[in-house]
Formats: sequence, C-alpha cells, structure tokens
Amino acid sequence: MTVLVLKVDVDTFRGMKEGVPRIVRTLGKCSVPASFFISFGPYRSGLAVLQLMRPKFLIKMIRTNAPAMYGLNTALYGTILPAPIIGKRFPRTIKNLVDLGHEVACHAWDHRLWQDWLFLMGRQSIDRWFEKMVEACISITGIRPMGFGAPGWRINKKALRSAGASGFAYLSSSRAEKPYIFKENGMLEIPSNLPCIEEAGVAGVLAELEKNAASSIIQVLPVHAEVEGGVYSKAFENILNRALSLGYKVNRMSDVASDLDKSGLESRPIKQGIVAGRAFKCAV
Ligand SMILES: [Zn+2]
Repeated sequence: MTVLVLKVDVDTFRGMKEGVPRIVRTLGKCSVPASFFISFGPYRSGLAVLQLMRPKFLIKMIRTNAPAMYGLNTALYGTILPAPIIGKRFPRTIKNLVDLGHEVACHAWDHRLWQDWLFLMGRQSIDRWFEKMVEACISITGIRPMGFGAPGWRINKKALRSAGASGFAYLSSSRAEKPYIFKENGMLEIPSNLPCIEEAGVAGVLAELEKNAASSIIQVLPVHAEVEGGVYSKAFENILNRALSLGYKVNRMSDVASDLDKSGLESRPIKQGIVAGRAFKCAV
C-alpha cells in the first residue's frame, strides 16, 4: 500500500484565516490526516510588489491567475497595510489542528524574506529566524515541531546548518524523487515528489497519483492553503477521493519520518534545479 502525505503549506494571512478551515473540513469529510507547515511570523506579501519587476515572476502571476487566487489584500500586506503576525492572530486555528490529529510543522518565520532574500542572509539572521519560528510553534501548540519545510523549497548550505541545530527530526525542503539524507547536516529529507496544482493543473496531479499508485516510494503532495482551501477546494476533495480509491494510505509526515528505515537511504549534498511549472530554482 503506497503511503501518501499531504504537505499543506500555510504561507499567508488569508490562507490561515480561510484556507485552513476549509482544508480541515475537506480532510474531515475524507477522514484523512495532513501535515500543516505553517508560516508563523509577519506576513509581508507586499514585498511581492518588488518581484513584479522580475519578468519570470510576472509570467507566473499571470499564468496562474494569482490575483484572483490570493486576493488584493494579500498583495498589499507589508506595504500600505501593516504586516500581521500569522501565529499570534490564529492560535486557536493552529491548536485545533493538533487536537484534530493533524501534524503542525514549521514552514517559516518570515516567508517572503526567506523566499526572496535567503541568499543574502547571514548565519546569525538565519539562526534567529529559526528560533522565532520554533518558539512561536511551541508557545501555541505546546509541542516541539518535528519537521521543517523551507519556503519555496529554497534552502542552502548555511540554512541546512541552522536547521540541523534547531532540533528538528526531519526536513521536507526539496523536490527530489525520494527520501534521502542531507550530507551537510545528516538530517532526513522527505521531499515533495508530486507536482502541486499550480504546477501541473488538477489533471496533472491526478495523472501523477494514478502513475505512482503502486510505488514503494512515499508520495508527498504539496498543497497550498490559499489554493486548495480557496478556489480549488472542490478539486482538492476530488483529488483526495481519487487517491483513496487508488488505494493510497494517507499518513502524517511525522509518522513517516519516525517509521522510515534511514539506514538504506542515500546521503548526498544539496542540489539546486528547475522543477516544471516553477519560476525559480529550488532544492531538488
Ligand atoms: Zn510557502
């Protein structure tokens, strides 16, 4: 029976407020657990305005109809609207995930800062970024998070060293085909190896699920609270039902990490590459 993990990234204020409750309802209907990777700190999407000067980003925004998917407020936080601290605004929503049996893992302190400026961040500021994120998670859930998934699957050697010192049991920060060990810090990596809706469309996600239904490799589906908990809510329910009818067993990533036999996994250094449908390079 092939194991499927639903890796739900919560990047934005709106994703937490509207997307998470909707995704939780869909998961409840299908009686499956998920792993929520949460951006706990300031939501400063307004910095994305700067990104518009980058042509690849503009093409992606237009192609995926991002303004309709994310909303106008979302585009302005951190510029003319103050940046809300996502974790502080929604502690009950986050705690409720734990109470319902889902996993709460770490995705970011400041998602936008990391995604756009990681290559310029020094070791100290990366360490501080991790500390604030882990503290926020523990103060809300009372539990030390087991996993960290880097924003935009962007991670480098410096960040791997900080992650290694932050007490996580596993990482989920790349787009490789199967789990491996990062040579830089000796940590287990469970990559997102299925495409997300934004990259492949609903039909593309369904086709990959069908193709891999008998795989011996753990399948990780990246989900975005703003997308599958927004305009693609019904499509997400259809994807889940299809996965269940194909025989997938849906599990939390923390359980997969605990159960996995790490002795047979490849240990290798980080690699950067392009994934179909994504504008920027990420760890692969
Ligand atoms: Zn994200």
